[in-house]
Amino acid sequence: MSRLDLFINRMVSQRACLDHAATLVGDMPGPVFELGLGNGRTYHHLCSLFSHRDIYVFERAVASHPDSTPPEDRVVLGNVFETLPQALEQFGPTARLIHADLGGHNAEKNDVFAREISPAITPLLAPGGLMVSSDRMYFQDLEEMPLPEGAVPGRCFIYRR
Ligand code: SAM
Repeated sequence: MSRLDLFINRMVSQRACLDHAATLVGDMPGPVFELGLGNGRTYHHLCSLFSHRDIYVFERAVASHPDSTPPEDRVVLGNVFETLPQALEQFGPTARLIHADLGGHNAEKNDVFAREISPAITPLLAPGGLMVSSDRMYFQDLEEMPLPEGAVPGRCFIYRR
């Protein structure tokens, strides 16, 4: 499989999983957390699914497309290893959806990162809340959900608290 194939699979899987998750959590209260803004493509898509005022973006350095740049008061700037525990103090277990796309090009490093960050994500989710990730996560208490049509197995994961 070429890198182009892998990239396309990741993109179509992200869209399918975010659309599916938004349907499932539709009526739940609580914020949406976007972990990793990057160019802002998935943030922009989340804004089409949720009110942009409900979306908090966790990113160490904002460098997104101007059309995909969140309001300053919805950006939590810094390393997620520090900002997620702080967010737990502020928000408690209230997030209806957490989307994480924090990885880079090195699959092994992404896996180590996913193992280390998983425990900081779990307590932020509301009961019934969903977590969508481009990497396999390592949760003790969350249930892995079936993928929707259009998502490519191994390119996106959905978990429920
Ligand atoms: N989903 C984005 C999009 O659609 O454009 C792409 C996200 S990009 C793959 C990953 C982003 O995660 C980068 O912008 C990077 O700065 C951020 N990131 C990686 N590790 C981080 C960390 N420890 N704390 C905060 N942000 C981090």
